[in-house]
Amino acid sequence: MGTGTDILRNPPGRAVRIVRCADYADSLAPAFARLLAESALLGPQDVAGRRVLVKPNLLTDRAPEQAVTTHPAFLRLVIRHLKAAGAEVSVGDSPASAANLRAVLEKTGVGAVCKEEGVPFVSFEREGVRACSVDGFNFTLAGPVAEADLVVSLPKVKSHSLTKLTAAVKNLYGAVPGYDKTTLHRHYPRPDDFGRLMQAIWRVLPPTVSLADAVVGMEGQGPANGRPAKLGFLAASADPFALDIALCGILHIKPTSVPYLKGLADLHAPEVAGDSVDIASFEVPVGSHLLSLVPAGLMRVAARVLWVRPRIDAGKCVNCGRCIKACPVNALTRPEAKGHTIPALRKKSCVGCACCHEVCPQGAIHMAQSPVLRLAHAFHGLD
Ligand code: SF4
Ligand code: SF4
Repeated sequence: MGTGTDILRNPPGRAVRIVRCADYADSLAPAFARLLAESALLGPQDVAGRRVLVKPNLLTDRAPEQAVTTHPAFLRLVIRHLKAAGAEVSVGDSPASAANLRAVLEKTGVGAVCKEEGVPFVSFEREGVRACSVDGFNFTLAGPVAEADLVVSLPKVKSHSLTKLTAAVKNLYGAVPGYDKTTLHRHYPRPDDFGRLMQAIWRVLPPTVSLADAVVGMEGQGPANGRPAKLGFLAASADPFALDIALCGILHIKPTSVPYLKGLADLHAPEVAGDSVDIASFEVPVGSHLLSLVPAGLMRVAARVLWVRPRIDAGKCVNCGRCIKACPVNALTRPEAKGHTIPALRKKSCVGCACCHEVCPQGAIHMAQSPVLRLAHAFHGLD
């Protein structure tokens, strides 16, 4: 993999290093040390005297064992390593818009780690933004991200109801602060537009190293309401697209079925090295990515028969209102009608972005597919 030269001057390319790691206890420190040594990433040549922003995945307020967020033990090792190598370290993220930051920091264990390790946590919502215009996309980057010399991204490897996989690339989407993220979902509802947007975002970020937490990931109804899945490895790369394509190989996902990886297989073909990892099966939500097959001009017509929408389980819903707050198009409303006990959905407004699903603390929202979409999925070759 890398040569050990300064990453800011010599980007190390598409190399991806995989190291097995059985748990977050005794196995973690030696596996992490191997990952850094073998990848030749994040040595003093890369980080000494530089402002390094560590960005875990803090999607919402869940405990570490629920496998929604980056494990705090992994974050602690990363912070300690960077400080020892001479970096000026801060930690930051932008949780889903409806989540309360204090609750997120407490529940995930990340607040305690930052305090104990003596590094500041910066909220992307409170530190200003930088406006960017790239490849026809207009978006903002959180100030702490734009001003960092280097970003160390710590994605949690999970299934995702909109993009099938969420890992290195989607963790960097968190560089866009809260409400702006929600607005972008509204402007780019088609999965492949969203994918191109993520490529544009990556182009304006400072140099980035991704260290993926796949010791325990999530499968099924990810990214917030699936099942923890023991995957047993860590992965590193300076190219988030190459890393995600490598993860697809391990998790039996076709990269072409992940909207933000479509058409990138050659450009970011990973050079994978390290341990071989054998995952027997990994369940991903199906269907929503098929929307990317529909030409943009036909979306309005196609939307009548090809849709992915939230279905709320009245038995689980506690009417907390988080999904209503998170919806970028106000498709969910308070249950005002008599007899309604759960939020009501305006079907025509829904763009299938799954933001509501991501923030539901009860796992009450399932992203349901239209019958035509389910049928399409049943045919081999469309997936
Ligand atoms: S569906 Fe979930 S997020 Fe929405 S009101 Fe019910 S419990 Fe809250
Ligand atoms: S209802 Fe849910 S899936 Fe539909 S647009 Fe709103 S947040 Fe997205």
